[in-house]
Amino acid sequence: MKTWPTLLVLVPACASIPLPTTPPWPDAPPGAEVELCVVWGERNDRRRFEGVAELSFEPWHQANATVVVRHPSGLMVIDPAFGSAIAEDLSHVPGWFRIITGWADTKTPTPQGLAEAGIDPAEVRVALLTHAHWDHTGALRDLPNATVRLSKSELLFVAALDGYVSGGVMPPHFDGVWPRVRGFELDGPPVLRFDASKDLFGDGSMLAVPLYGHTPGSTGYLVRGPGGRRWLFIGDATWTSRGVEKPAHKTVPKTDRDRAKTGEVIGRLHVLAGEHPEIVIVPAHDADALATMPTCAAVTSASGDGAAAPAPR
Ligand SMILES: [Zn+2]
Repeated sequence: MKTWPTLLVLVPACASIPLPTTPPWPDAPPGAEVELCVVWGERNDRRRFEGVAELSFEPWHQANATVVVRHPSGLMVIDPAFGSAIAEDLSHVPGWFRIITGWADTKTPTPQGLAEAGIDPAEVRVALLTHAHWDHTGALRDLPNATVRLSKSELLFVAALDGYVSGGVMPPHFDGVWPRVRGFELDGPPVLRFDASKDLFGDGSMLAVPLYGHTPGSTGYLVRGPGGRRWLFIGDATWTSRGVEKPAHKTVPKTDRDRAKTGEVIGRLHVLAGEHPEIVIVPAHDADALATMPTCAAVTSASGDGAAAPAPR
């Protein structure tokens, strides 16, 4: 039993915004579900106060990961984390920033993780981005046949950047990739606690929803999994599930481009979590939330616990 008390709430997010009655997540036709698994890029243990504005020494199981999605139209990934150029990438960040980024030798590039799970990176047809920060786009160049999909707002944000590191983005990750980048407008109807949506495949299996704030075009993805399971991938709106639960901001204010908008998003997520506990909300850096999906593996584990799963193909 952990004995470290929670001492202080530093920056509570706004959870009292007036919200309309929620439009439902429309039913999808039978079979409009996807299979999911995780390719881990890095996992380490930190303390809660490092990820969320709460002076607590409870553990934060931190992660970088790529979610692999099997959709009837083909194989896709959400946020291909680290690329084969991870060592080169990190050589360009300031020394002090290594406290946050860590070092390349503890990271598994996504193409390597895919290959170990029996997936040829060339098979990936779509790379969906929650946002364009460097640790969510590292492997775009390693997925030669993937159309890169992100919100139009995020696309315009990235297109205006240059240099190796800018605004948390590494623009070189898009070098040679731009011809296969497709921005989408969130021009669909409100859903749940979100003002707009985009049915990405026209079958209700995956809806994009606006989470603008952490970056100008941050986007969440509502996903229908097998057996009635539901996920909402929220990128870096919060780094930890605790941020949604509390609700609370991240510890470091500058990590969000627009702190006020991010606070509103966190408030919406907090309300949604109370209304729809069946939807697993997955911050991109929360290993426990990510572990609600099986780990991609080339060979099925004999054990059901720990959940290695055959890679979706
Ligand atoms: Zn981010």
